[in-house]
Amino acid sequence: MEESLNLKNFVNGNFVATEKQLENVEPAQGRILSYIPRSGVEEVDAAVVAAKNAFASWSQTTLDARAELLDAVADEIESHTEEFALLESRDTGKPLSLARDVDIPRAISNFRFFAGAVRHASLDANPMADAINYTQRTPLGVVALITPWNLPLYLLSWKTAPALAMGNTIVAKPSELTPHTATRLAEVFSKVGLPDGVFNLVHGLGAEVGDALVKHPDVSAVSFTGGTSTGKLVAANAAPAFKKLSLELGGKNPTVVFADCDFEKAVAGTLRAAFTNQGEICLCGSRILVEESIFDAFTDALVERTSKMVVGDPLNEETQCGALISAAHRDKVERYIALGQEEGGMIRCGGTRPVIEGDCAQGFFVAPTIISGLAPTCRTASEEIFGPVVTIHPFKDEPEALALANAGRYGLAASVWTQDLKRGHTFAQSLRTGMVWVNTWLKRDLRVPFGGMKDSGVGREGGRYSLDFFSESRNICIELGD
Ligand code: NDP
Repeated sequence: MEESLNLKNFVNGNFVATEKQLENVEPAQGRILSYIPRSGVEEVDAAVVAAKNAFASWSQTTLDARAELLDAVADEIESHTEEFALLESRDTGKPLSLARDVDIPRAISNFRFFAGAVRHASLDANPMADAINYTQRTPLGVVALITPWNLPLYLLSWKTAPALAMGNTIVAKPSELTPHTATRLAEVFSKVGLPDGVFNLVHGLGAEVGDALVKHPDVSAVSFTGGTSTGKLVAANAAPAFKKLSLELGGKNPTVVFADCDFEKAVAGTLRAAFTNQGEICLCGSRILVEESIFDAFTDALVERTSKMVVGDPLNEETQCGALISAAHRDKVERYIALGQEEGGMIRCGGTRPVIEGDCAQGFFVAPTIISGLAPTCRTASEEIFGPVVTIHPFKDEPEALALANAGRYGLAASVWTQDLKRGHTFAQSLRTGMVWVNTWLKRDLRVPFGGMKDSGVGREGGRYSLDFFSESRNICIELGD
C-alpha cells in the first residue's frame, strides 16, 4: 500500500492527480493512510465529458461483449482477493476476515451475476389482433454512482456491474473516507481493456463532487446509497432535471424474537444482525424486540455472547468487531450511548472504549453495547446510530410486536425469529419494510428486490430491478394489418 499513498482520479482511462488533497485516515490506527484528490466542479466536468464521449460506442457494444468484460473484472478481482480485502479492511476498520469472506467475494459475485443476468435476460412481447408490441431496453447515458463508506467495493460493484451491463457510462464517487478499493477497481477496468471513458472515478467530498455530479446537466441518472438526510438533498437536486433516481437510505431495523423461536439459533442470529461490521450495515438489526416470556433469558444470553466478542485490530484473524469509520463517527455513537442513559436505559454490556494496545491504541473502537429499559419510541431506540449499539425491548403479543416493528420513520429490513411457519409468513407480510428475513439474516440472492420503504429510500436494486433502473424500457408497436 505504501507506494500508492497518493491516490488519483481515473478519467478517460488516465489516472490524474489534483492540486488539492484530502487526508484519508486508517480507522484502526487513527493515522493517515493516504491522500486523495479533493476534486471539484472542474474534475467532475472532465469526467462527465469523458463518459459522454465514450457513451456513443459503448452503448453500441453487444450484450455478450459487455458480459465478457464483467466476467474478466470478476476474475481479476478474484485473483487479487487478499489484496482487495486488506485494502478494504485498512480503509474501513472492518475485520480483514469479514472483508475476505464477505465484501470481496460479494463484489466478485456482483460482476459475475450481472454478466449472467444480461446474457439471459428476456423482454416482453405483447401481441394484439392486428399488431405486435415489443419492449426494448436502451441505456440512459452517463450515470452517477454515489456510494457510502461501510461496504465500499461491495456497493460500488452492485451499481457498476448493472450500469455497464446495460450500456451506460459511469462517473463514480465513493465516500472520501474509503477511496482505496474504488481506485483499485479502476486499475482492474484498465487492465481488462474497458474502453477509455466508460468508467470514471472522481474522489472528493460529497458536498463538492457529489453535489456537482447530481446537478450536472449531462448526468441522466443518479444511483445513491447513503444516509436519509443526504438522500433528501440528492432528491431535491436531481428533481428539477427529472433525473432517474434510486435512493438506498438508512434504517433502524427490528429483530423480532417470538417465544417459539429456536432459542440458540435466534440468539446467534440476533448477535450477528446486531454487530456484524461493527453495526455499520444499513441492514443491521438494532432494535431487538423479544416476547415477554423469554425476554430475561434471551437478554442474558445475548449479553453473555456479546461480552465475549473480540474487539480490536482488524488484521487479527480472531477479531469480530473492528474500528468505527472515523473519530467523528465514534463520537456520534458515544453520544447515543450517553443519550440512552439519559433516556433511562441501562447499559447491559459495552458502553465504553475498549483498551487496545499496540498499533491500534489510537483507533476508533467502541465495545458492542446493549441497552435495555428504554421506551421503544425514545430517540436512542428510533434514530439510526449505525454503530455497535442496540436496544432491547419486551413485547406482550403479536399485535404489539407488529406495532413496535412498524413504528418509526424507517422501513428498510427486518428479521423475525419463530418456529411457527404460518406466523412467520403472516408477520413478514404485515411488516412495512422492503426486506424481511425469517429465521435468518443477510441471506442474499442477487435476483431479489433490494430497497426500502418510508424514509429508507425509493426504488429497488437487484436482478432485473437494477437492469430496469439502468435502462429506459420502451415499447415498439408494429402494425400487422389484416
Ligand atoms: P452519507 O449520506 O453521508 O454519504 C453517502 C455518499 O454521499 C458519500 O459518498 C458522500 O460523500 C456523498 N454525499 C454527501 N453529501 C452529498 C451531496 N450533497 N450530494 C451528493 N452526494 C453527497 O452516508 P455515509 O457515507 O455516512 O453512509 C452511511 C449511511 O448510508 C447510513 O445512513 C446507512 O444506513 C446508509 N446505507 C444505506 C444502505 C442501503 O442499501 N439502504 C447501504 C449502506 C449504507 P462523502 O463521504 O464524501 O461525504
